[in-house]
Amino acid sequence: MITEDARALLATGAVCDSCLGRPFAERSFGLTNAERGRALRTTVALADDEDFESTDPADCWVCEGYCGTFDAVAETIVDALEGVEFATYQVGTRVPPLVEENERLLREDADLEPDAGESMKREMNREVGRRVGALTETEVDFDRPDVLAVVDLEGFDPLETLESGSVTGHAVDVQINPAFVYGRYRKLERDIPQTEWPCRECGGSGIQLGDDGEEPCDYCGGSGYMYDTSVEQVVRPHVVDAMDGDEGTFHGAGREDVDARMLEGGRPFVLEVKRPRVRDPDPAALEREINAAADGSVEVDGLRLATYEMVERVKEHDASKHYRADVEFAEPVDEADFEAALADLEGTTVDQYTPERVDHRRAGLTRERTVYGIDGDLRSSAEAEVRLHGEGGLYVKELISSDGGRTEPSLAGLLETDAEVTALDVTGVEGESEPFEREEYFLDEPRSESDDEVAETAD
Ligand SMILES: [Zn+2]
Ligand SMILES: [Zn+2]
Repeated sequence: MITEDARALLATGAVCDSCLGRPFAERSFGLTNAERGRALRTTVALADDEDFESTDPADCWVCEGYCGTFDAVAETIVDALEGVEFATYQVGTRVPPLVEENERLLREDADLEPDAGESMKREMNREVGRRVGALTETEVDFDRPDVLAVVDLEGFDPLETLESGSVTGHAVDVQINPAFVYGRYRKLERDIPQTEWPCRECGGSGIQLGDDGEEPCDYCGGSGYMYDTSVEQVVRPHVVDAMDGDEGTFHGAGREDVDARMLEGGRPFVLEVKRPRVRDPDPAALEREINAAADGSVEVDGLRLATYEMVERVKEHDASKHYRADVEFAEPVDEADFEAALADLEGTTVDQYTPERVDHRRAGLTRERTVYGIDGDLRSSAEAEVRLHGEGGLYVKELISSDGGRTEPSLAGLLETDAEVTALDVTGVEGESEPFEREEYFLDEPRSESDDEVAETAD
């Protein structure tokens, strides 16, 4: 009988309404534990015809006052989130072990199950969370909130808080989850790596030790990098700035060789921004800004605000690639042989043993890759342009050269002459089973025509 249980709980000592109601948290959805406790206290007083006496959380032996601090904790969280843009939140609480022990003792003394109802941790998370949501007009998200506030109850004295109405700041730790911008990049010049590449001599410091102490590194000229710039260095600062974040990480859908350009459709990427204070910059404006600053070496296209799942998608989604290659032959090639060789390669499955150039530490392995389509123009008996569409992981330079016989068949093998790629461009990266750009991976609306018109008139 619930009144008996309530009477037993009240007999343990001074218990506040929340602590009295909490063992019955599964009953009557729509009530707070404090409302349950208040109703039970009233019921017991009426049944026993005793004078009604409420108990202040400050006097409660179970929570030691914490159940009176929901408002103050919520306000402290809201203050800590000042200046941070977010749409979803979650509150987590660390409950002192002594209070958890009190919760167990309360139920034990009243002959209830040790886990009857809910824990104070859950009540705190919900009650504080509800208040944070109402104060900031945001939604709770238990899966992937924009911000997470962790309250350490040991970080403040509940009795002091009940007096002053405020909580010491260090009791609340606010974490801001990363935000993500998706797009495609084009690399219009060669010798630009995708991600920043620290100098191998100085490890990125730009400094070497000379006779007179520290001096600029000879190898990189003091820049600390192997190359002047990278796609990452072109894109990252603008996105991090626009989102007012602390730092950024570039995730590409694979990468082309440093000396290959990335043209036409571009390659998908995600820029992850850590601790963003802004989560919804205007992607069209950001795109214009990056392209203006890159001044032709790198371009980005189709920027959109993405979910965190987009990182895994660009890294894991199988993609086929389109290429354009300039090829040189060691011996003269005639048109009919060239066309016949391309016809042989069209649609064929190639066996490729791991190329020497790829990774000396990687175990050698023969992979099968399909050439979906191939065509080309013989410009002279010694030179051709080859365009092809291949399965992800196809080594194109080796498909042309044969890599000393490690790739079979190959253009060189079919023509019975040495053939070498002298310049390579990637012209498209497309998802094998479906496009990268599925709406479920985006947080914003599809870009409208007018965004792009603005882009054009702004140039
Ligand atoms: Zn209490
Ligand atoms: Zn260096």
